Amino acid sequence: MNSSTIIGNNQIFQKKINALKNDGPDSLFLIADFDRTLTRAWYEDGGVYTSASLLRESGVLSPQFSQYATELYNTYRPIEISNEWNLKEKEMKMIEWWTKSYQALLQEKISRAHFQEAINQNLMQFRLGTESILEKLDHHHIPLLVFSAGLGDVIDTFLETQQVKNKYLHLISNFMIYDNIGIAFNYTQPIIHSLNKHTSPLENPTYGNQIRNRKNLILLGDHLGDARMGENREYDTVIKIGFLNDDVDNNLELYKKTFDVVITNDGPMDFVNELLQKVAA
Ligand SMILES: [Mg+2]
Repeated sequence: MNSSTIIGNNQIFQKKINALKNDGPDSLFLIADFDRTLTRAWYEDGGVYTSASLLRESGVLSPQFSQYATELYNTYRPIEISNEWNLKEKEMKMIEWWTKSYQALLQEKISRAHFQEAINQNLMQFRLGTESILEKLDHHHIPLLVFSAGLGDVIDTFLETQQVKNKYLHLISNFMIYDNIGIAFNYTQPIIHSLNKHTSPLENPTYGNQIRNRKNLILLGDHLGDARMGENREYDTVIKIGFLNDDVDNNLELYKKTFDVVITNDGPMDFVNELLQKVAA
């Protein structure tokens, strides 16, 4: 399927680009969702390779785990995307889903070796052009917060294996906590799930200094909830870019209202690369 890039209001968008250009790369930082934003949404083999699903899909854990994780998905995913539940109830159900999944991982006595084994199968892939974005940001010392409600251990192992980690790239996510022989016995709290990303604070001792004085933001996400990442902070200019991967006809209007730019059908990062080129020439 062909992908296209749709700019909701070209006049406003040009104004924002000019503001970003004038302020320069030292005023800019990025927040990006990980799964199906920095990575591809679709794979030729039909698999679903996200940080939340990779352990289930790659078969590095017991068949019982995979079966249980699939049951959880079938139970909770319809609630996640339903319009019939109110937000409070939905959020409670999401916490229930994430908690049950992580409890199941602890039962499996999961270790870092499992994550590496899953990543080594090369199932998960960057969206075309993501690596070039990461290089540019590193080169211009522009911080990137990868902000994920998935499993940070999977993401961190992936980034490490792809050799793209650098001191301007930071990961905000859910992580396992390991004992002294490297077996997970707990996980970080509060859980970041798909519906509460806007409540997570961005100020953090590890990268707070890097973003403190930067008032321009480029945000990348594929979920409507991603558009609210980092909103509990003040900005001069924000450009939101949304990747609309599914059911384009029905979702396009809503995405156009939520994001400044919409890239459909798992399209490449070309537009984002060109935008960065303009701001940090
Ligand atoms: Mg996503």
